[in-house]
Amino acid sequence: MNPEACSIPKESGERDLLNDLQQTVSASRLGLFLQCRLKFYFRYVLRLKKPKTPSLHVGSSVHAVLKSWNKARWLQQPLTLKQAHDVFLDAWADTSEGSVTWEPGEENNEITTGWRLVDTYLRESHLPAELKPDAVEVPIEADLHHRGLPKLIGVLDLVQQQQIIDYKTSATTPNAEKVVHTTEIQTSAYAILYRHNTGQQEAGLQLHHLVKLKNPKVVITAMPPMSQPQESRLYRQMEAYLNGLQHGQFVPSPGMHCASCEFFDECRHWH
Ligand code: SF4
Repeated sequence: MNPEACSIPKESGERDLLNDLQQTVSASRLGLFLQCRLKFYFRYVLRLKKPKTPSLHVGSSVHAVLKSWNKARWLQQPLTLKQAHDVFLDAWADTSEGSVTWEPGEENNEITTGWRLVDTYLRESHLPAELKPDAVEVPIEADLHHRGLPKLIGVLDLVQQQQIIDYKTSATTPNAEKVVHTTEIQTSAYAILYRHNTGQQEAGLQLHHLVKLKNPKVVITAMPPMSQPQESRLYRQMEAYLNGLQHGQFVPSPGMHCASCEFFDECRHWH
């Protein structure tokens, strides 16, 4: 890896990769590009591999149970808590997306935290077993070629009664006003995907935060359907993405987000 080479790409393989990245874009890829172009470059162009973080592992294990729970509701064969726990343990043992380097005693604490989040969510019946979801974990896309934009791709966690629901795990209680703003790329992208694939407007969007407190809690943030200005904002952001990739300007954007950046060392060597 040569962090100094993060300007105009020279290798044809890299050019091909940059071309591919201009054909499609997901909300997470777009969000990362707009947050820090150099981090985007390290992750999606150089594809530098880093160990999975404990919080990511907790989040993906929790997500795996909620996915199974919702799929079982869709099949009208609800899981028992015991079955949900088994899914959680299987997901915890799965290292196919990278393994975590644990500090002594850390894994036991984190596995307890993860399961308590799921247990709290399911026991509070935020998802009544008898209510059949409209869709669960659907990979969908929206062709925005007529706007001169890449194809938008994404996976909706859950759609229920025409509400688009997305799960988050978080260490702190989210502030409703801020979280609506900080997740706007994702929620607008999901609304566009939903509308393109159903021909209907969503009834609303919800963020279900599972908060890792001593006493875990669930915070649900409900939002109205995407507004027209929000839709336009997303298209302008996608244009900036396309433009940025075409010009290959992968510069660092230092800020508060650097505290959790896995490429901090590589970034300090960039010039
Ligand atoms: S440390 Fe900060 S500026 Fe550097 S790549 Fe990471 S997010 Fe970007």
